[in-house]
Amino acid sequence: MRSDANIAGPMTDPVPGPRTEPFGDDVSRETPPPMDDTPIGRAAQLAVEALGRAGEGLPRPPQTRVVVVANQKGGVGKTTTTVNMAASLALHGARVLVVDLDPQGNASTALGIDHHSEVPSIYDVLVESKPLSDVVQPVPDVEGLFCAPATIDLAGAEIELVSLVARESRLQRAIEAYEQPLDYILIDCPPSLGLLTVNAMVAGAEVLIPIQCEYYALEGLGQLLRNVELVRGHLNPKLHVSTILLTMYDGRTRLASQVAEEVRTHFGKEVLSTSIPRSVRISEAPSYGQTVLTYDPGSSGALSYLEAAREMAMRGLGRTQELKELNTSEGNQ
Ligand code: ATP
Ligand code: MG
Repeated sequence: MRSDANIAGPMTDPVPGPRTEPFGDDVSRETPPPMDDTPIGRAAQLAVEALGRAGEGLPRPPQTRVVVVANQKGGVGKTTTTVNMAASLALHGARVLVVDLDPQGNASTALGIDHHSEVPSIYDVLVESKPLSDVVQPVPDVEGLFCAPATIDLAGAEIELVSLVARESRLQRAIEAYEQPLDYILIDCPPSLGLLTVNAMVAGAEVLIPIQCEYYALEGLGQLLRNVELVRGHLNPKLHVSTILLTMYDGRTRLASQVAEEVRTHFGKEVLSTSIPRSVRISEAPSYGQTVLTYDPGSSGALSYLEAAREMAMRGLGRTQELKELNTSEGNQ
């Protein structure tokens, strides 16, 4: 695995920001045609312009950032966040690989990647030691975006991995051996804390936790954070929770704002200031094998993922700088 920092593009700002409030309230509203002079119409125009600038993009990280999208709670927006953040980053000129580590194969479906049982998949990489390059496929429609698909075979991998050598670090080894230049690898985890998620946490340095803005949102979070600590302590000292993203935010309910407030109080700086609104367009896109970025680039869902990705990209640079400063000050002592 290597990153190609020399191809970094100039810094551009795809949508006016920074935003502290979630975008719109498009619970059921559809995006009108782009030339429409309503706020949503203007937003659509902005997104089209932002997408039109693909290739200029955000600054690229100096090294490949491997981000584990995890939350053992089901249906909180892990897959939706993985594919839409990945597409947003790719549309800004980054080279991005999505690793589908969920036997449900939802990320593969959403990216329009065939994943019937004959397709070479991440199962072959983890269990059969196949090189990652043998299973990676380009995503149609989005240049620079790639996917290592999951097939139903992966459902047996949790058991099959138990008896294999280096069972926790098989994904890490495969990623390290991957030769293609990449800016980001986003790993979509299943809703469990088993060996598949542990493999992701050993392979990555960052954990991105999507939190759905609803009652019970914080339940189970303690266990997830303890697992991150355990993996950090025993298997991967680099691992940390870098990003928390509030998803399915419905600005019309008090519950959503209460949950958002509680999460921000608990976690503070890790929480992205952009929240993802509940949006019909976001939930429709996977059934067309698309991300919301290509399905409806002007929708508030697309804009909010573009903005969340911009935040994540910029914050990563801040951390790189912090680490550099830390290394320098340690070196001076
Ligand atoms: P699992 O734990 O099963 O893997 P998940 O955490 O990956 O689930 P998703 O599959 O991303 O969650 O989302 C769960 C459901 O919610 C899906 O039907 C998805 O389309 C829908 N959804 C996700 N985000 C939004 C959103 N912002 N607005 C509306 N629907 C959404
Ligand atoms: Mg999922």
